[in-house]
Amino acid sequence: MSKLGMVYLVGAGPGDPELITVKGLRLIEHADVVVFDRLASRQLLERAPKRARRIDVGKAPGNHRWPQSRIQTLLIAEARRGRRVVRLKGGDPFVFGRGGEECEALVEAGIPFEVVPGVSSAVAAPAYAGIPLTHRRYTSAFAVVTGHTCGESSGDLDWDALARIGTLVILMGLGRLESIVSTLLSRGQSASTPVAIISRATCADQRVTRGTLANIVSRASGLRSPATIVVGQVAELAEPLAWFNERSERGAGPARADIVA
Ligand code: SAH
Repeated sequence: MSKLGMVYLVGAGPGDPELITVKGLRLIEHADVVVFDRLASRQLLERAPKRARRIDVGKAPGNHRWPQSRIQTLLIAEARRGRRVVRLKGGDPFVFGRGGEECEALVEAGIPFEVVPGVSSAVAAPAYAGIPLTHRRYTSAFAVVTGHTCGESSGDLDWDALARIGTLVILMGLGRLESIVSTLLSRGQSASTPVAIISRATCADQRVTRGTLANIVSRASGLRSPATIVVGQVAELAEPLAWFNERSERGAGPARADIVA
């Protein structure tokens, strides 16, 4: 039997291929196999050696994603063939990326692995919208949650507690924006609380939509995913501190993102 390979769970960052870590890029450049999905940048895939296999597990015949168990089986099988496998994941592998499940499967199969953290959209999207997650004047705490668990059966999240946290970052929330907003309002958040939605953060077509809990739902219609929602006083800084794609406004570069105020 050939020597055991290795699996590297690599965070690709939020979109801009320059936001991967030096270590992550080096591993891609030496990979035998790159297993990626929807959020991974094509430019990063091009950095893999020509001979490397690139496997898209975000799409399968019929346009369905591969089931998680099948992805895990693939990682194990490739490592058992002695391959250096890069499992490239959007943002950070351990932030809503199912990286934990993949590591558990690797441990069970006795496959060695490493985790290379990435710049999560939870921090990158606010940064590219000019929103500091903490600020001495506003708040010293933030929470990152998924919008999937918001609704009538609001999962295991304590929304009463979350409504009291200074800054709330919501991933995978665009499709449930209305129910997230009404949940926060029903838990005592003021309707004037600033909200910003950052669509396709760090990409050339990034778009920032600003508003309050009172009007964000109507302003957000038609926004493209992926999108990150930021709720809290810090979101009001998205206007004065906007910097990304603002260059042409200052006469220095190509088109700016369409900022809806
Ligand atoms: N592991 C990833 C998150 C995976 S969940 C990370 O750390 O970033 C997918 C969610 O991430 C999307 O629904 C969206 O809320 C957010 N997201 C990913 N890429 C994004 C981007 N370029 N701009 C805004 N939000 C993004």
